[in-house]
Amino acid sequence: MFRFLVALVLLALPAAAQQPVPQAPPSRWMDELNWLEFRELVPARIKTVLLTTGTLEPHGVTANGADNLAPVKIAEAIAVDPQINALIAPHIPYGVTGSMAPYPGATHIPPEVYVPYVRAVLLGLVRNGFRNIIIVNGHGGLQTQLLNDLARDVSLEHNVNTLVVNWWSTCSQDAEAVFGNPGGHAGENETAFIQAINPRLVHKELLPKITSTPNPPPATVSATPAPSSIGLYREGAGNPTDFDQKKADEYFRRVNSCVAVAVKDTLKKWEQAGFH
Ligand SMILES: [Zn+2]
Repeated sequence: MFRFLVALVLLALPAAAQQPVPQAPPSRWMDELNWLEFRELVPARIKTVLLTTGTLEPHGVTANGADNLAPVKIAEAIAVDPQINALIAPHIPYGVTGSMAPYPGATHIPPEVYVPYVRAVLLGLVRNGFRNIIIVNGHGGLQTQLLNDLARDVSLEHNVNTLVVNWWSTCSQDAEAVFGNPGGHAGENETAFIQAINPRLVHKELLPKITSTPNPPPATVSATPAPSSIGLYREGAGNPTDFDQKKADEYFRRVNSCVAVAVKDTLKKWEQAGFH
């Protein structure tokens, strides 16, 4: 009779309630985990790590650290997605700034220093057991190319899966959808993203003092220092103008979800292809 009752109760439970619910890790931030906690999590329960990268450089009317703030917030938003289920590695804030390095408050790490340093960080993540290393990059130009090459090399040499995501170009359709233009470096889209993170970091009153320049097509001209701290992807469009908080928040949500989709799509395809 007792067995019958147990069976009846089990049948009455919804299917989801019978499956063990995976316990959330004590923290998603590697900085906050104890080594014994980490040992339980990786790789048994968590195989993916998000490594964020950026740089310090001028950004029109917003903060010099825009390229650092954005990818960290994106990582925070997407790490908890059950299909991503990632830890977040400590951020790498100094990057290959290039032609904006002469501006006040900017720093530039030469590629010959940056690449071996980031390689050592990636190898540290490999050694700790991560199978999927996702670089969420916040700064473009040469840094993107260096990270693409490095991530590919580390994958081939160490038999792990690597992905580099440049959020602003991966999600360029979201800038078009929200603002009606592709934006630019420190353009309407990137400024809005920072406004969504912290409105106090956007200084509308500085706009009259700041020029913008269309990004030159590749292999045309190359000026150092860059003539403006705002570089537009399409001439005549994408300057920060209305600073609408609702649009900023919508763009922020859309970009987070777009990056999550891009990461999940790649993770799923790796798995289907047997790379897990
Ligand atoms: Zn930027």
